[in-house]
Amino acid sequence: MVDTLTPEQRRMCMQRIRSKNTKPELIVRSICHRLGYRFRAVRKDLPGTPDIVFSRLRLCIFVHGCFWHRHDRCKYAYIPKSRCDFWNEKFSKNIERDVRAMRDLQALGWKVEVVWECELRDIPVLVLRLKNILHPI
Ligand SMILES: [Zn+2]
Repeated sequence: MVDTLTPEQRRMCMQRIRSKNTKPELIVRSICHRLGYRFRAVRKDLPGTPDIVFSRLRLCIFVHGCFWHRHDRCKYAYIPKSRCDFWNEKFSKNIERDVRAMRDLQALGWKVEVVWECELRDIPVLVLRLKNILHPI
């Protein structure tokens, strides 16, 4: 087969594919889907716009990036060495927003779970966790 893409086009193409397939919330959604659960992706009418919403179970899942959402004791939640004030302010705003969203959802009777990006490094363990979240014994 003749490759008709220039190296630049190919690079952009690969990048697009990669960023699409590795988007954490897409992976978590596809696992939930394979487990046979029906859900809605991104409900803007709920506090914090949860990434995955299981209406019947009254359960929301947020898929959080460890860096932006400050995963506690996670190596990906490092603090950049320069412009510390800028980052700290940004981080505290994110945390505040997350806490508020969780509190508001719980006040509305929703259960809230967070899947951290680093959990995607071990898919079998994540699948087990999602099974437990979605089908508690
Ligand atoms: Zn993490």
